[in-house]
Amino acid sequence: MAYEPFNLAGKAALITGGNSGIGLGFAEAIAQAGGDVCIWGTNEAKNAAALEVLRQYDVKSVAMRCDVSNEEEVAERFAETVAELGKVTACFANAGVSSDRRALKGGFSTMTTAEWRRVLDVNLDGVFFTLRAAAGHMVEQGIAGSLAATSSLAAIMGQARGEHYGPGKGALLAMLRALAAEYRRNGIRANSVLPGWIETPMTEPAFNWDRFRDAVLPRVPVGRWGEKEDFGGIAVYLVSDASRYHSGDTFVIDGAYSLF
Ligand code: NAP
Repeated sequence: MAYEPFNLAGKAALITGGNSGIGLGFAEAIAQAGGDVCIWGTNEAKNAAALEVLRQYDVKSVAMRCDVSNEEEVAERFAETVAELGKVTACFANAGVSSDRRALKGGFSTMTTAEWRRVLDVNLDGVFFTLRAAAGHMVEQGIAGSLAATSSLAAIMGQARGEHYGPGKGALLAMLRALAAEYRRNGIRANSVLPGWIETPMTEPAFNWDRFRDAVLPRVPVGRWGEKEDFGGIAVYLVSDASRYHSGDTFVIDGAYSLF
């Protein structure tokens, strides 16, 4: 018999950036475990393709076009998500963008303010808008829910030409700890997921670059890149009541890269 708390029937999760990569890994596992899911992304074609995948499970699955860097859009889509699913018991603020290597050819000293804002608008403001809406909803409805954000190794290691990406991801660790402290009496937990090098559309250019692959892959102790499926277990755990006493933590899922 399966461990009952991992049966997510009655749970409903919002996953931003859920149409691809790590976010789709979260969403698919939650749906497979019986939880309803809503995914957000800006690309309608990617949303539709991901929805096809999610619809194979016998749960309610919805996709919405939402740019998380747009404050009004987030508020509107969040209300629509609640209307569609009835409630949101878990929220994964996972949508993110990476550094624009071409714009950073000249290094940090030539980084434009536009490039700085492009990354932080999505990776930091977007998480703020999303988790603010989710926390407000959970408190209002008396839901002892789960808040999560996707951070990065760049939060804890120096990433050259990531002087905007790194601080954005580092701030999420602090934000989720603050949320864990603020909402402790509401039974709302808040945790960060910190992935290592994961094979997704975001990392495709780097992984296809021989010099990067030859330098980094031998330093991953488990001997391979991460896959989106490596994020299913943590998603199910965080949505489930099994994690009800687990808050303010950072889950490093990196094949031990950061230890080696
Ligand atoms: P990915 O497959 O490219 O996923 C990025 C997701 O974010 C897509 O679903 C994308 O959807 C969405 N997105 C981007 N901008 C958005 C916006 N303004 N509004 C709403 N959605 C937006 O890459 P991934 O690797 O899975 O990345 C997921 C998260 O993991 C990101 O936060 C990333 O920084 C983080 N991360 C990744 C790695 C890695 O090695 N892959 C490592 C550490 C952390 P649309 O294109 O439809 O907008």
